[in-house]
Amino acid sequence: MCNDEVRVRFAPSPTGPFHIGGARSALFNYLLARKTGGKLILRIEDTDRERSTPESEENIKAALKWLGMDWDEGVDVGGPNGPYHQMERLDIYKKYTDKLLAEGKAYYCYCTDEELEKERQSLIKEGKMPRYMGKCRHLTEEQIAQFKAEGRKPTVRFRVPADKQILVRDMVRGDVVFDSNNIGDFVIVKSDGIPTYNYAVVIDDALMHITHVIRAEEHLSNTPRQCLVYDALGFKQPTFGHISLILGKDHTKMSKRHGATSVDQYRQLGYLPEAINNFLALLGWAPNSEQEIFSMDELIHEFSMDRVAKNPAVFDIDKLNWINQHY
Ligand code: GLU
Repeated sequence: MCNDEVRVRFAPSPTGPFHIGGARSALFNYLLARKTGGKLILRIEDTDRERSTPESEENIKAALKWLGMDWDEGVDVGGPNGPYHQMERLDIYKKYTDKLLAEGKAYYCYCTDEELEKERQSLIKEGKMPRYMGKCRHLTEEQIAQFKAEGRKPTVRFRVPADKQILVRDMVRGDVVFDSNNIGDFVIVKSDGIPTYNYAVVIDDALMHITHVIRAEEHLSNTPRQCLVYDALGFKQPTFGHISLILGKDHTKMSKRHGATSVDQYRQLGYLPEAINNFLALLGWAPNSEQEIFSMDELIHEFSMDRVAKNPAVFDIDKLNWINQHY
């Protein structure tokens, strides 16, 4: 792998129909990879055991193929950085968790859901931001023995350093600074041994040598936690790019009541994959000209992250219909 190769990833959670917002994230990653001669990795984030299904994964892969977005590494392709399902990587995460525990950068937390809820409620009552206040940071051997005797199963929490300004350099949003004092020690491994999103995503992106993390804006608030994990494990941070939300015509978050939201629905309604790509590309990205109809090759040629807008993108079905008719 050459050092300056762009490596991006699309990392869906296979928990339901493939949303057009997901397709747009995949598209921006795809365009950047193809434009730069880099690599696109498809990783399946299947740690939500209750909601992940093999059908949803198949549906995502089929939709990507239908849209013409092929990937270079990841599920169904293989490569040196796999496996590419997070549930097959538990040993890898465990190795890093052991390291963080040994270095005192993480600790076992025995608090029950009821205790956590009680803490949350009392902070809210005091007008404070609810967050974990570090009750299990300094447990004695006796306390631990007592919790174990009660049959409590611990989670692992990341020890968030105090008074730290966390700078997220974002290709879309510019520099965003977060204060570590607003972030409670967060869970990195659940009591069943499965890592949380904020933890697994960092280890995977680092080990898969991801250079640019392009994803939906809703993950911007997760990013400072991820930055802390990067630093604690001595990993180099990638460049981030958080793309804006897709809103319905009434400027509220795009949802079912605005009409079809999944790629499958548009496919069944008879839209052309080329038209959908064209439309999604223009949702939040502005080409350098007045051109409105683009082939995938033209999109690849024209695409650049510095023309991706900060403002929410409004889903305009009339525009999609217009593009579809002009194809
Ligand atoms: N599995 C996450 C999701 O589907 C991925 C977020 C990310 O790209 O980091 O929202």
